[in-house]
Parts: sequence; C-alpha cells; structure tokens
Amino acid sequence: MSSQTITVIKGDGIGPSIVEAAIQVLDKVGCNFNYEYVEAGLTALEATGELLPQTTLDAIARNKITLKGPLTTPVGEGFTSINVTLRKKFNLYSNVRPVISFKGTKARYENIDIITVRENTEGMYSGAGQVVKNEGELAEAMSIVTREGSERIVEFAFELARRENRKKVTIVHKANILKSTSGLFLKTAREVALRYPDIQASEMIVDNACMQLVMNPQQFDVIVTTNLFGDILSDLCAGLVGGLGMAPGANIGKDCAIFEAVHGSAPDIAGKNLANPSSVILASIQMLEYLGMKDKAEKILAALTDVIASGDRTTRDLGGSHGTTDFTAAMLERL
Ligand code: ATP
Ligand code: MG
Repeated sequence: MSSQTITVIKGDGIGPSIVEAAIQVLDKVGCNFNYEYVEAGLTALEATGELLPQTTLDAIARNKITLKGPLTTPVGEGFTSINVTLRKKFNLYSNVRPVISFKGTKARYENIDIITVRENTEGMYSGAGQVVKNEGELAEAMSIVTREGSERIVEFAFELARRENRKKVTIVHKANILKSTSGLFLKTAREVALRYPDIQASEMIVDNACMQLVMNPQQFDVIVTTNLFGDILSDLCAGLVGGLGMAPGANIGKDCAIFEAVHGSAPDIAGKNLANPSSVILASIQMLEYLGMKDKAEKILAALTDVIASGDRTTRDLGGSHGTTDFTAAMLERL
C-alpha cells in the first residue's frame, strides 16, 4: 500500500470539478494517496494576494508529485504565466502529451496513438528579451535554444520510445528558416538519434507536420519538438481524438513532476457541471505510470474506455448530454 503524498492544486474555472473527479477515481481504485491541497492562480490571488504562494511552491518541492487543474493568469502587465513560471522554477523540461483514440467520441479518426514530447523551458517561451519600443510600434522577444536543452529533451523522447516499445520518433523543426535556433535543435537531435539505432528517427518541417497530422495521423508515433511548435501541435493532436477534454499532459523534470490537463480553465463552461473530466483522469493515469503503479493505471483506462464507448452518461463535448458528476459516477460504478 502506498503512503505517497500528492500535492493537489484544484485550480481555476472548471479545475476544482474535474480534479475532484480524478481524486474520486484514484481513491476508488485504492491508491491510498495522501493529498496536500494548496492553491495557485486566481483562487490563490484572491485568498493570499499572490498567484503562486510560497507554501504552494514548498509543497510541490516537498512531495515531488503534483496533480493540477488549469490555472488562470490574469491578463495584464506584471503577471507572467503561472504555468510557465512553474515549469521554469522546477526545471520541468519535458512536457509529455499523449493522445489516443477512444471509440465513442466525435473524433474524425480512429487508431491514433501519438505522444508529443514538447521542450518546456526554452524557445519562444523562454520569456527572455521582451521589449516594446518606439512607443508601442515595435516589439521584440528572444528565442533561446541551447545544445544542452535540446539534447536532454530529445534523449527524453528516445528513452520514452524505447521504454514504451515505440517504433518511431519524428523530430519536428523549422531549421530551413529559423536557421540558428531550430537549426541547433535539429543538429543536436540528429546526433542523439544516432545513439538509438533500435528506434526509427524521422524529420519533418513543422508546417508539413501540421498537414501530415491532418491527412495521415496514423503515421506518427512519438513527436519531439521545441516549445512553441509542441504547444500548437499537441492541441492539434487533441483535436484528432475528440478535443481538449481528452488531452492530458505531464511536466517532468529531474526530481519533480506536475500532471495536468492540456486545456485552460474554460471560463465559458465553468460552474455549469459541463466539463469533461477525462483530461485530468488521463493525467492521473500518466501519474500512476510515472509512479510505477501500472495495474491501477490500466484499470482506470479500461473504465474510461468503456464509459466513452458505451456513451454512458458522457459529457456534451463527447456527444452526450450529461455533466461532470454523472460522468464521474459512471466511472466509479465501473471501478
Ligand atoms: P484559459 O484562458 O484558461 O486558457 P481558454 O478560454 O483558452 O481558457 P480553454 O480552457 O483552453 O479556454 O478551452 C478552450 C475551449 O475548449 C473552450 O470552449 C472550453 O469550453 C473547451 N474545453 C476545455 N476544456 C474542456 C473540458 N475539460 N471539457 C469540455 N470542454 C472543454
Ligand atoms: Mg487556453
């Protein structure tokens, strides 16, 4: 029996309802986690005056494993994205975003099983060099790519491919135009790929990758790419399997990991019991796999697969007419 403590951030908007659903599911399969609840985002700002209180940072560092709902960063000056801050602060350099087809969704495709491995700390999202000049007529920002940063993310992708018996890693880049930054990423990725002769490496320019993902998504297995491209491609991938409600993500560093939904706080449906909790339930499955609790992960995945395939109390985004709580009840019954 586990005595692992998980830091839980329920988050903003639809966050509390879908995180609560995931916790019920984890408890139902007998994970026996202890939960330390802390706040971040708008909820924290209102309660403490800070978006990311020190107690929250301490809990994330102490427990190493965090399950997190979406966080809203207020629009306006002086607020840097909380997600970006967390990823940088804990050096969570890998963002692992798997998508798989579930029978019973409104998705246009079947048999999709793609993992996007997105570099999480560099590139266009490094936040460096942001200035607005000439009274607002000119804006600048820096894209930073390092050999070390590229090497560790590509290694992470190939190691993941090897561990999970995957056949192919596609390196997505734009080195033909962004010669210095994307060029360094591609060059480094090619060198890393040579160290994994058992896994097929391919290269694709990002615009072509977008078209190929829509035309023939089944050709993809693992994708590894820089921060901005990974952000966009992983939402595209979510769209292939039925939308953001089906898309989880893991932010993984050397000694800390944060598991979350890919989507935001969905203010348009918040508080209406409409959100699909699958994203956070799938993130919990990623968390269990990370913790080596494969049996429980498989159990939850089987229940989720069955709820969606049978259309039993599914949410609107999946073509159903039920709410978060009914969907969760259908999950709990099966477990
Ligand atoms: P934020 O500013 O927090 O990123 P957003 O306005 O960008 O929020 P997202 O949360 O990214 O919105 O969601 C985009 C769209 O997808 C919205 O229409 C939202 O309702 C829908 N959506 C997101 N998550 C879910 C979910 N779990 N279930 C159902 N619909 C969802
Ligand atoms: Mg959003």
